[in-house]
Amino acid sequence: METKKKISLVVPCFNEEEGLSKFNETLLTALPEKYEYEIIYVNDGSSDKTIEVIKSLAQNHPEIKYISFSRNFGHQNALKAGYDFATGHCAISLDADLQHPPVLIPELIQKWAEGFEIVNTIRLDHGSISAGKKLSSGIFYRLMRRMSDVNIETGMADFRLIDRKVLNQLKLFNENYLFFRGIIPWIGFKQVNVPFRANERFAGTTKYTLKRMIKFAMTGVTSFSVKPLRLSIYLGIFIAFLAFIYAVYITYVYFFTNHAIAGWTSVILSVLAVGGINLLMLGIIGEYLGKLFIENKRRPNYLISETNFES
Ligand code: UDP
Ligand code: MG
Repeated sequence: METKKKISLVVPCFNEEEGLSKFNETLLTALPEKYEYEIIYVNDGSSDKTIEVIKSLAQNHPEIKYISFSRNFGHQNALKAGYDFATGHCAISLDADLQHPPVLIPELIQKWAEGFEIVNTIRLDHGSISAGKKLSSGIFYRLMRRMSDVNIETGMADFRLIDRKVLNQLKLFNENYLFFRGIIPWIGFKQVNVPFRANERFAGTTKYTLKRMIKFAMTGVTSFSVKPLRLSIYLGIFIAFLAFIYAVYITYVYFFTNHAIAGWTSVILSVLAVGGINLLMLGIIGEYLGKLFIENKRRPNYLISETNFES
């Protein structure tokens, strides 16, 4: 009998103590018997008892591995750690809240068996997703496509299967502002998309507050293109054009009417407009400069305080 292929499951966890045991149970029942498994829980600096829950699960299941960060490094870095440490022939990442339905896993594996090297999932928006989330994600993906050079499909989720060949390549990505949803379409290889319907969050609350989502969107855009910098050129041209029209107008007023001095309001207005645009552009430039500053330090993406992986 040939040896079974091994599949790694990568599960980032941030304050998921309530739902984790249930998640683990659901996950185990969804895994086809044909393969061997390794379940990697990445504890992303949770402040609750997540790590205790993971450890007790690991006691009963030898295939459970954990990596515990020294603090919260964010979802994307937790994914990176899981991909880095995975020892399987492929890795499947999914959220710990059952919003990425484990029942879909056999289908992802099936696609992999057919020869695809990356199997993406696309979240179909429907009832269980809040209106706010729908709207923000709609804006997000549209903005991403407009402002950057990568074509991310609407609803692209961090629920995906990645072949060993690609995992080895991903290890080379050491940028601090990681954004897998952008990197994955960028890297090529044989890819396929599988649609799914998201479930209601099983327990706990979403870790993506509005503030975090805005930060995430900024990273998505500014990590993938310098197009926003080009905005300044367009805006500059636009303002110059307005100024030209205005110049024609005041020349006309000066020569052909007798009320040329009335001007204070317009002066203030144009000063404000130009000043505002200057600030906006400085902000965009500052955003990129700040990124360069951080990337330049070449700090690690995450620090591990505890793990049961042998090093
Ligand atoms: N997560 C993480 N670190 C964070 C935030 C979230 O590891 O800083 C994990 C979280 O535990 C979950 C997944 O990433 O497994 C997605 O987070 P969440 O469900 O809160 O996001 P949403 O589904 O609302 O987009
Ligand atoms: Mg979720």
